[in-house]
Parts: sequence; C-alpha cells; structure tokens
Amino acid sequence: MTYELGKWSLDDLFPAFNSPEMEKAFKTLEKDVAEFEKFRDKLSPDMDVEEFMTALEDQEKTTRLAYRVGQYAGLFFSEDTQNQDAQTFQAKMQQFMAGLQNRTLFFDLWWKSLDEDETKRFMEVAEDDFGYYLEQIRNFKPYTLSEPEEKVINIKDVTGVNAMRTLYSSITNRYVFKVEVDGEVKDLTRGELMALVYGPDADLRARCYQELYKVYGDDGAILGQMYQAIVRDYRNENMDLRGFESPISVRNLINDIPNEVVDTLLGVAEKNTGLFQRFFKLKAKWLKVDKLRRYDIYAPVAEAEKEYAYEDAVEMVLDAFNEFTPKAAELAKRVFDEDHIDSSVRKGKRGGAFCSSSDPALTPFVLVNFNGKANDIGTLAHELGHAIHAMLAEKHNVFHTHSCLPLAETASTFSEMVLIDRLLAEETDETVRRDIIFSQIGDAYATIMRQIFFALFEREAHEMIANNASVEDLANAYMKNLEKQFGDSLTIGEEFRWEWVSIPHIYDVPFYVYAYAFGQLLVLALYQQYKQEGESFVPRYLEILSAGGSLPPVEILDRAGVNVRTPEFWQGGFDVLARMVDELEAIPVE
Ligand SMILES: [Zn+2]
Repeated sequence: MTYELGKWSLDDLFPAFNSPEMEKAFKTLEKDVAEFEKFRDKLSPDMDVEEFMTALEDQEKTTRLAYRVGQYAGLFFSEDTQNQDAQTFQAKMQQFMAGLQNRTLFFDLWWKSLDEDETKRFMEVAEDDFGYYLEQIRNFKPYTLSEPEEKVINIKDVTGVNAMRTLYSSITNRYVFKVEVDGEVKDLTRGELMALVYGPDADLRARCYQELYKVYGDDGAILGQMYQAIVRDYRNENMDLRGFESPISVRNLINDIPNEVVDTLLGVAEKNTGLFQRFFKLKAKWLKVDKLRRYDIYAPVAEAEKEYAYEDAVEMVLDAFNEFTPKAAELAKRVFDEDHIDSSVRKGKRGGAFCSSSDPALTPFVLVNFNGKANDIGTLAHELGHAIHAMLAEKHNVFHTHSCLPLAETASTFSEMVLIDRLLAEETDETVRRDIIFSQIGDAYATIMRQIFFALFEREAHEMIANNASVEDLANAYMKNLEKQFGDSLTIGEEFRWEWVSIPHIYDVPFYVYAYAFGQLLVLALYQQYKQEGESFVPRYLEILSAGGSLPPVEILDRAGVNVRTPEFWQGGFDVLARMVDELEAIPVE
C-alpha cells in the first residue's frame, strides 16, 4: 500500500449531513428516546430485572447512534471550519443532543436514589456488561442532593458560574497582541504569539511574553475577581452543600482515582523539582547564556532541520509499532485502509491533531496537519496510539469503551516513545540525537512539572480564597509558586505574576491539569518496565489498553501488576527523565 497525503472519507458514518440516512438517524433517536421515557413510570426497586436490562441496552444502543451523529458533525466541521453548512449542522446537533440528554437524565437519578441493598438484584444481572458504568454513577450518591435542589443548581448554573466562564472566555478570546516582528508591528492571536516563543530570536521571545502578560495583567484585577467567584462557587457547592472533603477530591472522584494516589503523585513530583532545574541550567549552556530567562525555556537548541515525506513517515511509524508488537501495526493500518485519516494541510481545516472515536463498532478517525517535520511524525504516532487504544477496547459497550482521563494518554504517549526510541536507535548524527532528547525533556517539562505546579497553585488558591485572599495576594502566591518551581535556574520577569489568570483550565475545569502529569509519568514508568522486561511486558500492556473504561483506572493497572499507590512507582517515571538529563550533561558543549 502506498500512503498519500489527503482527506478522509466520512462515508462509514454518513454519506452527507443532508442525506436521507442522517435524517433517519435523527428520527430514530427521537423515537428511541420517546420509547425510553416510558421506563420512567416503571422504575422502582422491585421492578423486573429483565426490564431493567432492557432499559440499559436500549440506552446503550441510542448512545451509539447519538455518538455517531455527534462524531460526524465534529469531523465535518474539522475538515473545513469555514464551511457554513458544517457550522449550522454542528449547532443543530448540539441543541438536539442537549434536549435528548435532559429527557434521559431521570434514569441516572433513580439509580443513584436506590439503597445499596436495593441495587444488589440488578447488579447481579448487569455486572458483566454494565458493572462499572452503574458503579460510577453510584459513586456520586453520597454527594447528590434532592431532585429539586439538583434542579435549582442546574438552572442557576446556566446564568451563574457557567455564564462567568463564558464571559471569561469571551473577554480573553478577543485579546489582540501587538508585537514587532521583522520591523513591523503585527496584531497576533494568542496562538500566533505563542508560536514565536519556540523560535530562535531571543529578543522576540521576551517581547512576546511581556506583551502576553501585559494584556492579561491590564485586566488582571477583573479576571482575578472572576476566578475568585468561580472558586467560591465551587467550594460552596461541592464542600458546603455536597460534602466533599476537599476541592481536589471532586476531580479525583470524577477521574475515579483515590485521593491518596493523587497526593502521592503531587508529593513525589514536588521532590523532583530540581530535575528540570538541572535541565534548564544545561540548556543555558547550549544556548550560550549564563542563565536562562523564563522567556527562553522553549527556545530551540536544534540546528538540524530534517524534512520527511509523508509516505516515509507513515512507514517509519508502522515499522516502529511492528517491532514493538505486530498487533499495534496491524490496528494502526486499519485507519489507513479504511480511509479514516485526514493528513493534508488545507486552508480552513482545523489546526493541530486529534483522534476521534465514538461507536466502538467503527474504526476511529485521525486528523493531523502533516508538514514534514520530525515533530509531525511524533504526532502521527501519538494519534495512531489513541486509535489503537480505542480499537483494543472495541469489544466493550459504548459506556465501557472510552478510557477515563488519567489513562486516556497511555497508548498515545507510549506509541510516541516507541517511535522516538526507534529514531534514536537508527540516528547516527549526534546533533539530531541531541535535538531529539532535548525536545523530549522539554515536552516532559510542559506536560509534567508545569501542570503539577498549576495544580499546587490551585490547591493553595482554593484555600486562600476561602480565607478571603485578595487578587493581589493570589498574584503574590503565584510568583512564589514560580520561584519554587524554577529555583535559581531561571530569572523570572515580574509580569509572570499574571500568568495564572491566563490559564483557561483552572477556570473551566478545576484540577483538570494533574491528569496530564499522571498520564505522562505513568507511561514513562511503564516504558521503563518494558525496557527491563522486553517481550513479556507486551501482553500486560495490551491488557491495560484492552480494558478501555470498563474498570476503575487503578484496578486496570493493578491487574496488570502496576501499583500506582507507592511513591517508588512515580519516582520510576522521574528516573527515566533523570537518565535523559544525565545523557545530555555528558555531551561536551561545543
Ligand atoms: Zn493525545
């Protein structure tokens, strides 16, 4: 097979947004939900178990179809974001789905309302197929309020905290950043601005960051106030009303990771703060400066700019997968065989890359923007890794197939490492080797330590706000957080005190960020085990992926002999990085 850059085919989903098949899908969904609503009156602790199973199975079937329609809308929009039909269809679909969701909510609420004893009869029968799904709904039982209270929260959230979040995003998304590039002042978006801090011009890097936090800082007082309101609302609802023990434990329950495991992760990470400081000091030497500035942490050390043809890139990825296990290559190939990959760069096409899976009966879809850079090959391996993960878990029902957030990046990151190892093994050019390792550790910094310190700041900020801290207090605490993170390895400009008001995650999904660190360190530790064990590791790894989202994440790992409860496990991930820094330190600086 030859691999050519091009667009995917969405035919396996629907022939077109306005096809009779799509119209039929909407009608079927409408009909199925109306049918499902009839269960409302039948739900009771002593209802027939068969009937309960039918309700679950119907819901599963409807969810598959709803996911297909939603996936089509998303992919249709991604292939050309300027397409009016795609925009309108996306909006229509979202509105329709929100309506359906509200009409089926009653089932979860009823299920949560049962006593432990009352669920036993149902669980015995449903266990094998729907066990974890049903369990995960019930995990929230102790924190669920009465139906009228839940309704009030929902209704008030629309115009309350959700409106606040929308305002935050409306305000910050219209920011324009003015920076002089090549002697000309340009108006840039944040994305365009941030691309420049990865560039070779040291002065420009500094100007970009100064402009970024000047713009955010000018609104710092008001953005900080919005953050205070969101955090207060989060605490009022989750701790005072629902009874969670701490702000972070809300996220831990959604991720289904025990509090102690997250505490252990954060604690070990804090102990390893010095690792990246060593890396930044080393980077200063290579960039030929006494000390790095915070502006320089993403500066390129690279000199070699190799270009790759798409076909060669695909072959390289598939070969690397094949060497790890033929199963991985075979699954990845399915994405190409079924024309489920969109690889070319086109105007209007969504930037970046992603893998999308919906109905487990369908091979996932992958979108990349292939430019021929070494990075693009890594991205290809990453997204195909996601696809492999989904395909290995395709035997589960739709509720159990998608892995939960902390495990969602396992196969993608692991696949990237498999590829990089292969590249390093084949690369004889020392400069290229050095560049690969530099960018590996740089990426690890951004996904691990940067996110850990965001989470540590969030933990502190939530406590401070409960104790009436001002926006200035928070900005000062953020500065201290940065000083602790970087030690004496960098100089930090005063404007960084406003960095926290520029991080959408801490506004939108409190404590989301630690999952990035969890995922990346987990993979580093797993990869380490693979290196030590070789072949015998592969089936255990495939077992983790095949579990999808059918069990609590910690149990999935336990079954594969991976114990994330101990500090030693997490330290193992950092040790891999430490050895990479050792390797770089051993190279004489020219
Ligand atoms: Zn990913």
